[in-house]
Amino acid sequence: MTQPAFVAPGVVTAFCPKPTSHTGVVVMVAAKGDGVVVLDSGMAEPMPDALGPALELLGATTADVRAVLSTHGHRDHTGGSRALRDASGALTYFSADDEGLAGFAPDVPVTDGDVISSGDLRFEVVTTPGHTAGSVCFYEPTLKLLVAGDGVQGVGSARKLPVYYESGTRYRASLRKLLALEIDTLVVGHPLAWRGANTHVFTGAQCHELLEDSFAAAEAIRAAVAAVGPHPTPHRAALAVLATSPIFDHFDPGDPVEEDTEATLDSELRDLAGTAVR
Ligand SMILES: [Zn+2]
Repeated sequence: MTQPAFVAPGVVTAFCPKPTSHTGVVVMVAAKGDGVVVLDSGMAEPMPDALGPALELLGATTADVRAVLSTHGHRDHTGGSRALRDASGALTYFSADDEGLAGFAPDVPVTDGDVISSGDLRFEVVTTPGHTAGSVCFYEPTLKLLVAGDGVQGVGSARKLPVYYESGTRYRASLRKLLALEIDTLVVGHPLAWRGANTHVFTGAQCHELLEDSFAAAEAIRAAVAAVGPHPTPHRAALAVLATSPIFDHFDPGDPVEEDTEATLDSELRDLAGTAVR
């Protein structure tokens, strides 16, 4: 799990440690075109050294990095960006909508349909708000490779209500948008607990199946919140409902309710309230 590996020709994944998280790592991607494109830069602390073994596998060094793309502004995905920029002169690319989360502005703000090219590689920006307002995925059409960050969360990670988003409505709409793409390889931002495995790379038919399961998981959360209705402890009550849902059979409702989980449930409550007054 800690060794970098190829996921497509010229494209490797690497892991940046994130000791405080339940998944323990953030997935970084490095792709070699004309120079190197890094997609998600991990935590600030171990960078740019944490990327070294991945670059070595590509026959490159930090000085070859030309572009640092981030799927969203959370600091486990943007934390290393400025160190990489300083070490290489690379430009940083992400949505200006996530500037506040990142704590700095991108050199190049990106929006839907933008393309970042490097040699034969073309990374197309697909806006996928929901996890955060500025979440995007990067799609390489020749490789049919989708780098999704936290825009695709499956049924979550082991022993945690999995999915974290600022808006369930937007997250589900974004998953529908991704389902229209032809995808051979899908890389997510943290290892996911899915079908008895714990992995960050999905291939072939798994890609669309993971997207469908991600949608079903978010829909189950929405339905659980709707079923609970007004309640003195709505978070705990919704989690108890969810624990009976087959899609969350890895989830233990006895675990402490984390802040992320509460935020996800609150987003559904807000969306439901919005629906009620319309
Ligand atoms: Zn995130």
